[in-house]
Amino acid sequence: MNIHEYQAKAILKTFGVPVSRGVAVLNANEAEAAAKELGGPLWVVKSQIHAGGRGKGKFKEPEAGEKGGVRLAKSVEEVKTFVNQMLGKTLVTIQTGPAGKQVNRLYIEDGSDIEKEFYLSALVDRATSRVSFVVSTEGGMDIEEVAHNTPEKIITFSVDPATGIMPHHGRTVAKALGLSGDLAKQAGSLVAKLYKAFVETDMEMLEINPLIITTDQNLKCLDAKVSFDSNALYRHPDIFALRDETEEDAKEIEASKHDLAYIALDGTIGCMVNGAGLAMATMDIIKLYGEFPANFLDVGGGATKEKVTAAFKIITADPNVKGILVNIFGGIMKCDVIAEGVIAAVKDVGLKVPLVVRLEGTNVELGKKIISGSGLNVISADDLDDAAQKIVKAVREVK
Ligand code: GDP
Ligand code: MG
Repeated sequence: MNIHEYQAKAILKTFGVPVSRGVAVLNANEAEAAAKELGGPLWVVKSQIHAGGRGKGKFKEPEAGEKGGVRLAKSVEEVKTFVNQMLGKTLVTIQTGPAGKQVNRLYIEDGSDIEKEFYLSALVDRATSRVSFVVSTEGGMDIEEVAHNTPEKIITFSVDPATGIMPHHGRTVAKALGLSGDLAKQAGSLVAKLYKAFVETDMEMLEINPLIITTDQNLKCLDAKVSFDSNALYRHPDIFALRDETEEDAKEIEASKHDLAYIALDGTIGCMVNGAGLAMATMDIIKLYGEFPANFLDVGGGATKEKVTAAFKIITADPNVKGILVNIFGGIMKCDVIAEGVIAAVKDVGLKVPLVVRLEGTNVELGKKIISGSGLNVISADDLDDAAQKIVKAVREVK
């Protein structure tokens, strides 16, 4: 689960992490009050969307002005102007995709004077089963480019959960960032606090870009991007309450209500599969034959007719879907249950695109009989390869 920058900073602050003072606002009046309270002389007006790259982003609407989604203001008036320009507008960044995201909230911060910008992040590293840190002197906006062009400028280390953060981790960070004296000490204390926050709140990723040295020689986290392990959210009702459903894909929200493992993608072939491995293989083979999946969907091993119907509805509600591939291997799942679910859903929502069904396993004959007896226009396939070729062909004929 992702949260907004202002929420992430509020959490980090409770762990003693240095962040700027700021107020989240929903309109120009609130912004004016916030700007006055913060006092200036420099303010930062920051779009709150669940995507990075805001600074270099562009608004779709010309009225939002030429500047990006993070703006420096030198007066209360200018803060208000920026707020009026940006609120309700659609910001497109490298992370939002071309559709962009609507800015419904802005974060007004006390502006900092920057001497240097660094990069620091922490994430769950599956290779080492530990929390790993990534640090670089090349802070600012394009860490992906740094990783690509000058990988030697990126330093990583992982923390042994048995010992937790040790003084040598702090020294590693200080050395990587070229810090000495008091700043090196601040780096040690900062990493310890960030690690504590990370572990105690079950974060999955924490990215501070930039981490800065202010002109008065203090380290400060100027940006914060945080995501949490969804499987651990039951332990943190306070964090779960920060969820902003308007930032999430409506189809994924609907799927989560039915306990379906669904991820929206941007291809044209809707997939309904049981088992995560088979779902991955199905997406791979669609790509092998030259098309792209519209989603990942694992209906699970013990799916009911209702669940299958719900899944089918979510798939067909996606306007990008030009064809549907149902690929079920019935182990625990019975093919006749899938067949009935598909038919019930088709009868309910209609079928406007080609549908290829490949069934195998428990009760397969019964399943196939139900489908062929339904009178619906379903293309049946014998195996995965056959199914993928048939749906790709059908989708291309529609295009
Ligand atoms: P992002 O573009 O979504 O990563 O948003 P950031 O929060 O990282 O802001 C983008 C850029 O704005 C930063 O890299 C800074 O260069 C600049 N910026 C943000 N806050 C301040 C500030 O308080 N003072 C100054 N001078 N620049 C800032
Ligand atoms: Mg940033």
